[in-house]
Amino acid sequence: MDKNGTMIQYFEWNLPDDGKHWQRLKDDARHLKEIGISLVWMPPATKGTGTNDVGYGVYDLYDLGEFDQKGTVRTKYGTKEEYLAAIKALHDNEIFAIADIVLNHKAGADESERFPAYEVDPTNRQNKVSEAYDIEGWTKFTFPGRKGKYSEFQWNWTHFTGTDFNQGNGKKAIYMIKGINKGWADDDEVDTENGNYDYLMYADVDFDNPDVKEEIKRWSEWYINETGVDGFRLDAVKHIDGEFIDEFIKNIHEKQGNDFYTVGEYWKKNHETLENYIEDTDWNVDLFDVPLHMNFAKASKSGNSFDMSTLFHNTLMEKNATIAVTFVDNHDSQPSQALESWVDDWFKPLAYGMILLRESGLPCIFYGDYYGIAGENPIPGKQELIDKLLSLRVNHAYGKQNDYFDHPNCIGWTREGDEKHPAGLAVLLTNSDEGFKDMYIGKQHAGKEYVDYLGNREETITINDEGVGSFLCAPGSISVWAEHVTVPE
Ligand code: CA
Repeated sequence: MDKNGTMIQYFEWNLPDDGKHWQRLKDDARHLKEIGISLVWMPPATKGTGTNDVGYGVYDLYDLGEFDQKGTVRTKYGTKEEYLAAIKALHDNEIFAIADIVLNHKAGADESERFPAYEVDPTNRQNKVSEAYDIEGWTKFTFPGRKGKYSEFQWNWTHFTGTDFNQGNGKKAIYMIKGINKGWADDDEVDTENGNYDYLMYADVDFDNPDVKEEIKRWSEWYINETGVDGFRLDAVKHIDGEFIDEFIKNIHEKQGNDFYTVGEYWKKNHETLENYIEDTDWNVDLFDVPLHMNFAKASKSGNSFDMSTLFHNTLMEKNATIAVTFVDNHDSQPSQALESWVDDWFKPLAYGMILLRESGLPCIFYGDYYGIAGENPIPGKQELIDKLLSLRVNHAYGKQNDYFDHPNCIGWTREGDEKHPAGLAVLLTNSDEGFKDMYIGKQHAGKEYVDYLGNREETITINDEGVGSFLCAPGSISVWAEHVTVPE
């Protein structure tokens, strides 16, 4: 690879419902290229339950802001035309466009219908707590606003495994739909939390149903041809039959070639579970490094009592680096969201240094960390810091990595540089008092003077004849020592 690649998640939960986000992305494409972004993960473009839907309450997979459905043509982010224009702007700047696709469930059905279902125990969904009886569920999707354009497929209760509301009596529960060959996905094909975690929300799609499987595969081919996206971010894969995902990705690779990129969101910190999933999907799908994010969140809340030398233990970055997409926070972990596990402010520079300046993993920057989070309790962005780290990543984070994870509070590493990027860099960070460490960066650097590019230390450090520098960092912070950095205009 010529240059280190970086992804950005180009949205946060509280973006304004103004229909202008695709335009913002289009206008920002050139800047994103300049700071070193190579992939953009865009929010779901499909029509949700209304314009204020972030995109995970998906109604119609074929409506990308084109049809008057759910009271609106546009989605939260704009129209289909604007979406396509944003993708074109990314491509004009040699950036891959990644679509967020939500396959697990469907929301906002057009009609309710009657069918037999069991109530199950929410904490153990294998456990039926009633006999089967007829309920009235929202499972009929006819898409009257689209009128069969792109696909004639209409959904009914036979295409779903479960739902959570009986219109007949207004009762909320988790209902498992009864029928021949129905029920949740096999236990070994979905996460086993709550007995069987096939059901997440709304009407849960049945990936055992051959008509569903065909329709979703056909839709994915339509989507790729229609939009020209270069990859998919697969939402909520721990709730989707793994066998189907494997089949789905293989079908795409067959039709589009192996370069079509996929990354799955498997929200689980247990490494063994993730590794099983990686094997089940034949290493075809990258995964977000949730264990690493959880370690960051925990470390950020533990002050100096967290053992920094264990920060990478049992993460994908450590164990399965080739498929690891590393991240600090995202739209689900941000404050007041369902999976809230926010990395506290003081630790953000350390965490971003760790995902951006090491050799392992494909790092993903969160829009909310870069541009800030909107809403009632806004959080300012860290654009200046992240720009500096990105510049260091693009220009200097190359070559052999020498690790110094030898202290519970202060850890560091160096990159020796390579032929094209000879300068290299040294990183030192601490969750406690001021830190110092002698680290080897290469004899070729002997006599060179290094400064802290993040500006947290004022000293100039000279690399000795053995290629070793005595590096420093300030309390609770990170310093990145480099000889010379080219700042993008
Ligand atoms: Ca499911």
